[in-house]
Amino acid sequence: MTESETTSSKPGFDQLGLADTLLRAVRDQRYATPTPIQEKAIPPALAGRDVFGCAQTGTGKTAAFVLPILQQLDADGPCNGKRRIRALVLTPTRELAAQISESAATYGAHLPLTHTVIYGGVNQNKQVNAIRRGIDVLVACPGRLLDLMNQGIVDLRGIEYFVLDEADRMLDMGFIHDVRRIIAKLPKQRQTLFFSATVPNAIRELADSLLTDPVTVRVTPAATTAETVDQALYMVGRKRKLDLLRHLLKDHTMQRTLVFTRTKHGADRVAKRLIKDKVPAAAIHGNKSQNARTRALEAFKRGDARVLVASDIAARGIDIDSISHVINYELPHEPETYVHRIGRTGRAGNSGRAISFCDLEEQPRLRSIEKLIRTAIPEIKDHPYAGSHIGEEPRPGRQPRPPRDRTQSSQGQRRRRRR
Ligand code: AMP
Repeated sequence: MTESETTSSKPGFDQLGLADTLLRAVRDQRYATPTPIQEKAIPPALAGRDVFGCAQTGTGKTAAFVLPILQQLDADGPCNGKRRIRALVLTPTRELAAQISESAATYGAHLPLTHTVIYGGVNQNKQVNAIRRGIDVLVACPGRLLDLMNQGIVDLRGIEYFVLDEADRMLDMGFIHDVRRIIAKLPKQRQTLFFSATVPNAIRELADSLLTDPVTVRVTPAATTAETVDQALYMVGRKRKLDLLRHLLKDHTMQRTLVFTRTKHGADRVAKRLIKDKVPAAAIHGNKSQNARTRALEAFKRGDARVLVASDIAARGIDIDSISHVINYELPHEPETYVHRIGRTGRAGNSGRAISFCDLEEQPRLRSIEKLIRTAIPEIKDHPYAGSHIGEEPRPGRQPRPPRDRTQSSQGQRRRRRR
């Protein structure tokens, strides 16, 4: 689809009420159109409404809350010329905190606002110095934030905008008490934007206690997989995945193959090993500069790189029609992400194949995916590394899981996909 076709059928960023400075930043990112969560959340957030956003990572939700907050902060101007923390984004993991902070830098590139990010596991001095210099936006994980609040370094009395990101994950990770302690210190008069991928009762109650007359914005996860995508599953040991990938890549019909890893480092590692084997490959992930990402994508589009290895976070920007194969080198935590990943192939009427590798520890994720797509992914048992997952050592720091034989699972209850 050409860009003009895309923009004529969907509203553009310029119809959301965003200021020129932010539109410029969005244009710098070459986003063609807003994602559904952006389209639905940005206008009410700009109007000062509380928002209850039901959306997972990968939907573009970060821009949906960062853009309206930056715009409002800029319009308000600094308070008496002195900077104090006016916006707080609470998020459960270091990785998410770092990504949100990068997004604040990206989208705020043309604004005179400052931000910093704080999380545990690293020395606090740099973080403390940044806060003392004065910032407008603080992105934080709950533990370190409480720590700095208790030391009297962070003062939240000036907060006007509060984002609670991935609330359900906060709950799962046991941070909810810390979160409540932090919220107790926020001014009552503020705008709150609340995001959660799922809405169990505890999250619904938390949202009700935090939000005033919110606008609810839901992005329905894609629960069906494209009919044109042929899916296959390989059970394989974690340590044999690279060998299996090399083996599969001997098939030259795998012309334009997108490989998904869960982490940035994983993406780099796989691409490097393939290049060493003389398979033309490139990696794309959030740590790469925009130029490096663009170069990798162009090489993939031209066919110079037969394989593109991507982390989920980078994959949203990948909009290429003729991907022949998607390989899930690692299964995603969120089952909806599987659907998004494999939707990269089988586009525009072309057929595509989605291959998933699953090791012993990933089996619960496989079950969640199969539940979501209401299909048992057909397993290919005839491959050189079959059985390598059985009796596999767990990753360091994990409890071993009892091995489970798929063939004894509730296959009878599963509706097999009609082929
Ligand atoms: P998020 O769900 O906020 O973690 O965003 C996931 C990815 O989508 C990030 O890499 C963003 O750069 C990218 N992204 C955000 N908005 C858009 C958009 N409108 N078009 C294309 N990519 C986007």
